[in-house]
Amino acid sequence: MVKLIGKRNQAHPLVLRNAKCVDFASRRLNTSTLLIEKGTISKKVTGRGLRIEGGIEHDLKGRYVIPGFIDAHTHLIPEGIDMQRIDLSRCRSLDDCLQKVTANLKSAEIAFASKWDDASWRTNEMEALTRRTLDKVSRTKPIIMRRICGHYAVVNTPAMKYIPPHWKIVDRKNGRLYEDVALNLNDIFRPTAEMLANAVRLATEKAVRLGITSVHEISKPRYLQALLKEREKAALRFSVYLTRKYHNHIVQTGLRAGFGDDWIRFAGTKVFVDGSVGARTAALKDPFQRTRKRGKMLVSKSRLKRLVSSAEESGFQLMIHSIGDRATEEVLSVLRSQVPKGNPLRHRIEHLELLSDESIDTLAKIGLIASMQPNFVRCWQNPGGFYERVMGPRYQRMNCYKTLLNRNIKVIFGSDCMPMGPLYGLYGAVAHPFDCGRLDVACAFRLYTEAGAYATFEEKKKGKLLPGYFADLVVLDRNPLDEENLSAMKIDAVMVGGVFKYRRNAPPSA
Ligand SMILES: [Zn+2]
Repeated sequence: MVKLIGKRNQAHPLVLRNAKCVDFASRRLNTSTLLIEKGTISKKVTGRGLRIEGGIEHDLKGRYVIPGFIDAHTHLIPEGIDMQRIDLSRCRSLDDCLQKVTANLKSAEIAFASKWDDASWRTNEMEALTRRTLDKVSRTKPIIMRRICGHYAVVNTPAMKYIPPHWKIVDRKNGRLYEDVALNLNDIFRPTAEMLANAVRLATEKAVRLGITSVHEISKPRYLQALLKEREKAALRFSVYLTRKYHNHIVQTGLRAGFGDDWIRFAGTKVFVDGSVGARTAALKDPFQRTRKRGKMLVSKSRLKRLVSSAEESGFQLMIHSIGDRATEEVLSVLRSQVPKGNPLRHRIEHLELLSDESIDTLAKIGLIASMQPNFVRCWQNPGGFYERVMGPRYQRMNCYKTLLNRNIKVIFGSDCMPMGPLYGLYGAVAHPFDCGRLDVACAFRLYTEAGAYATFEEKKKGKLLPGYFADLVVLDRNPLDEENLSAMKIDAVMVGGVFKYRRNAPPSA
């Protein structure tokens, strides 16, 4: 039985005995007793020697304990909204998708379906999906089908009527929506207040079941409002990045990084400079295979310069989405002159899937954080897979985690919710098809646990099983230092702030 349990903070001291604590840095196991008070690890003793009065005891019976995962790139609230809509992630063809939409048509006023991934379809039918295809499903009810990356959606004629004329990159004839308009469909087809409230609970519970205890969440005021309102239902910790549209408002309010509390805090703003590989909109130096498309730059250099300098002046972080090699070169040409030595505000670049050698040099020189998603490798970078098809031979250079780490670049791992799940995603780094990206298992775990804490200035609070750190931890059923165990590994329990928020089967003390 799967259960989600527990209040936000533990009132009584708690003793975890017989915990095999995993230290990924030294690659060692230590059987320890942990004392947890007020949601924080207050003592750690090797062996079973610790005795305290009045505490609740849990015997972990030699199971493996690691720090909670930090997913450094999420859209949890939209994920929770999508969990209440039509989910196309398991469909393996366009036809499967259309059948699923048809089956759900009656119950919805607007049929909003998401997470289709043509890379996992049996045949290449993305071109066949147009406004007319969806009109055949319904000519009266609005239908929206948004791709898994969020950067691309196709709608039918009734839905197209809702798309205001000011949105750019809209192909009205074929019902195709790109970039901003696709990413912001929740502003056009607005989820109800009830859906938003449910989204907080649904998505955070899902994340906790996967071992995630903190997220770096990309958000906007309406989502943040729901999160603040429903904060008691949020099962984990949030560092929030608001989208670029609100950048100037944030500058005006004087909001600085770290504002908030241990559960919800402000970190910075997020800006997109290009699109995605899946939507063929990432800004590349050379075109996508068999096309002339080189993707799109979504922000001018001068605009980016202003964003960086105002973030620097105001004291908050920039999270810059940049996937293609051309996009990243442009971003770095701006950051090189704008970011002070050592990158004190810890600005970060998201994805960085394809990089030139010069860009790697510059990333190292400036000290930027590389926020990357190993699940993309697992999903799309295998030989003969999607990235090879759309990118050609250069796909072998993509997601080069090891090269970056060898240059002392700070790499942090997240999922972008495509899909969530650190144990699933890690595999993309451990079994990376190319040497430039392959990591040993301990290193991959570190990037998904303690590395992310640095990005939000929380490296003294999160990511380690040591006194003074939050009692955010995951109990595993087998040794994570042994790579062989990775595919069968199960999460037995997850603790956030000293409270077990999830337990598989019987509680750990049973
Ligand atoms: Zn994202």
